[in-house]
Amino acid sequence: MEGQGLAFLEKLGYLEKAFRSNARLAGALRGYIARKFEEIRAREGRDYRIKIMDFCGTHEWTIVHFGLRSLMPEGVELVAGPGCPVCVTPSWYIERAIELSLSGVTVYTYGDTFKLRAVNPVDGVSSLEEARAAGGRVRLVVSLVDAVRDASRHGGESVFLGIGFETVAPGYARAVVSGSLPENLKLMSLVKLTPPAMFYSLDILRDKPTEPPVMGVIAPGHVSTVTGAKAWEPVAEQFQVPVVVSGFEPIDVLMGIAEIMRQLARGEYGVKVEYTRAVTWEGDLEAQAAIHEAFEAVDDAWRGIGFLPLSGLRLREKYGRLDALRHFGIEELTPEKWRKDTPPGCRCAEVTLGKAKPTDCPMFMKKCTPEKPYGPCMVSLEGTCAVWARFGGGGLADQIARDLALEAGLG
Ligand code: SF4
Repeated sequence: MEGQGLAFLEKLGYLEKAFRSNARLAGALRGYIARKFEEIRAREGRDYRIKIMDFCGTHEWTIVHFGLRSLMPEGVELVAGPGCPVCVTPSWYIERAIELSLSGVTVYTYGDTFKLRAVNPVDGVSSLEEARAAGGRVRLVVSLVDAVRDASRHGGESVFLGIGFETVAPGYARAVVSGSLPENLKLMSLVKLTPPAMFYSLDILRDKPTEPPVMGVIAPGHVSTVTGAKAWEPVAEQFQVPVVVSGFEPIDVLMGIAEIMRQLARGEYGVKVEYTRAVTWEGDLEAQAAIHEAFEAVDDAWRGIGFLPLSGLRLREKYGRLDALRHFGIEELTPEKWRKDTPPGCRCAEVTLGKAKPTDCPMFMKKCTPEKPYGPCMVSLEGTCAVWARFGGGGLADQIARDLALEAGLG
């Protein structure tokens, strides 16, 4: 056992050295990316620019935290995409959860959703945090398992807010299918599916004539452990862009960008997996089967954006008795009822779609801060505004980092 522990630590040390603290490889990748971009410019013209979208909030965290934007050649822009589930959860469902908590139903939620603000206050209450302060029953959990344990103990009416992407869906699905939820605990499935959002954001960015379109995508690594890299093949085919499923260390992301540039330089497009230590082409077939058994895909609303076809998961009819929406008679949000649900002036929807940077928002780090989030992208650690607020990103900070990288001989 001890030997196994040491081997694990050794592996961790190896991974850290290979994928995080590896200035030599980072320098080589930076040079490779710059050379490939020169090849592309020689073909397309000196003013040619490239946008690469990192879909996932954790990739954006890596890019900002490790200053990877500063390693890009002038003309290659990394833009964040809609990969933060808390940011895109409609205000409508947060309002319904506040109502439930104030009526005596115990609401279990993750810590980041706790601070998410609704646009329409319920009896003057705008978040689950405020609901708890007002006497509502709100409990923070780190997983559905915690909620099951606690709800089984107290026996009162309860609901778990099931927010997340495909990564969390297998856990919810297995709990539903195996009958592990106690009768008094219902699931409010607010799970979102990522490929429809990627389609939408790439599509919408094509309509902006002044901007270069997205020419490559760093696809989410965690989601792809479940869906498999095959989920991104239609994206690569339809938009004719390279898509690389990357891991979350800085070298992973740089390798993903290098592969995108390699394909672009050769005029190719296709899906590649950089994150081979976790992701396969087919993904986790057992998890996919569990999701299919418990859930069906529905047209769903993304906060600030609107309804995207087949982009959400709801419990199937046969598991209806476990469904919080049915059990508590909560009306589903419909395209007719949906109204833009970001607070006035907040540009989170544009940030989420890669159309604006957090620093383009006049409220960034003024009215809206991680301590007191005003808009949804400032709440979760995966929200682009929250990442930029905590670790910088853009402007002078990138320039300094770029200069330091040159001095350190990474070029
Ligand atoms: S800084 Fe705040 S208000 Fe501005 S876009 Fe981001 S979340 Fe919205």
